[in-house]
Amino acid sequence: MDSFVELYRASNALEAHALKGALEQQGVMVRLLGEALAGGTGELPVDSQEVGLLVQRRHLEKANAVLEQYHQSQAPWQCPSCGEQNDGHFETCWRCGGVPQK
Ligand SMILES: [Zn+2]
Repeated sequence: MDSFVELYRASNALEAHALKGALEQQGVMVRLLGEALAGGTGELPVDSQEVGLLVQRRHLEKANAVLEQYHQSQAPWQCPSCGEQNDGHFETCWRCGGVPQK
């Protein structure tokens, strides 16, 4: 089995899971480190909410591309319908339901 290497350290479990989902959609297997529920590795202290994302070494390049894309998609965007500034993690405008122009 391929060895796992650390791809990224998410600042919280929410971000980690969002990234994990994005990566798995691209066929990249992900392990989470440091999350309480992941359990059993015992490698990291639990005094931090940071969650490490591990991917297989052969997936590292692809995973980095997904990561980059993910972070780009997190950039704030302005709603074309009402002009509201939305955080990047909103897929539709929180105010009017509009979608960002690509
Ligand atoms: Zn709007």
